[in-house]
Amino acid sequence: MVSETQQLGEKMSRVNIPSVSVENFHRPKGVPEDEAFESVIDLKNLNVFYGNFHAVNNVNLGIKKNSITSFIGPSGCGKSTVLRCINRMNDLIPSARVEGQILYQGQDLNARNVDPVEVRRRIGMVFQRPNPFPKSIYENVAWGARINGYKGNMSELVEQCLVRAAIWDEVKDKLKESGLSLSGGQQQRLCIARALATNPEIILLDEPASALDPISTLKIEELLRELETDYTIVIVTHNMQQAARVSDRTVFYSLNEERQGILVEAGPTEKIFTNPGDSRTEAYITGRFG
Ligand code: ADP
Repeated sequence: MVSETQQLGEKMSRVNIPSVSVENFHRPKGVPEDEAFESVIDLKNLNVFYGNFHAVNNVNLGIKKNSITSFIGPSGCGKSTVLRCINRMNDLIPSARVEGQILYQGQDLNARNVDPVEVRRRIGMVFQRPNPFPKSIYENVAWGARINGYKGNMSELVEQCLVRAAIWDEVKDKLKESGLSLSGGQQQRLCIARALATNPEIILLDEPASALDPISTLKIEELLRELETDYTIVIVTHNMQQAARVSDRTVFYSLNEERQGILVEAGPTEKIFTNPGDSRTEAYITGRFG
């Protein structure tokens, strides 16, 4: 019988995930495999509490620049919480308290002099449910540029963002129509276009395709692979096949005995799915728990 791991492995080779296996992974001598990349975000001893509940316990992680990293793991293990820390969205949850460091290009994002609005401009976010504003398609994208103080040719910028988000052809003749008139998959790509309009360097996506049909899901995945050359992308997904199809690196989170979220293992996606270093990862990806 073919195991799920083997099936995933085959699927990955079919979708041509770039190989970053140990043999051809260039790294300076003596540096462990997982540290041999330029990280744009570094989480150091990250702990998150909601009131008295210790939701995320001591996460240490580097996010590789210009690549796609997926967060996987059972429900409630803190994937979204960690994601939200990366652009200070947890500031908006009154009971949330964040300890540790979130370094963006070496700068601590929680430092006093850091403006959270600027953080969210540089580190954009796309949510599970597409949330276009009840405004025209054009205005949805232009809004992103305006909050960024954009003074150039707005129509050109709107077009560029819609092209980059792979939705231009579908909407170019109806830019004045409401963003809400689009299908779910189109709305999500519109939200990605809106995020691109603030000229971010990092895009965080929290289960962006979980409310979408399979064809829209594939379109979003294809789009992410295209954006990867210019952006650093982090995606939370409950769908392991999606992580295998779309990401270069995968981070597996789980729960400890106190039901706190912990990072179990991070590494090249191919390795995590075919040769994980931790038995808990293996149990999860082979469907034995979670
Ligand atoms: P995941 O994304 O892996 O499903 P979450 O980050 O959403 O996990 O949640 C981690 C833990 O924190 C869960 O126990 C969840 O119930 C709790 N949690 C998440 N958001 C809040 C919140 N706003 N208030 C209180 N607890 C929360």
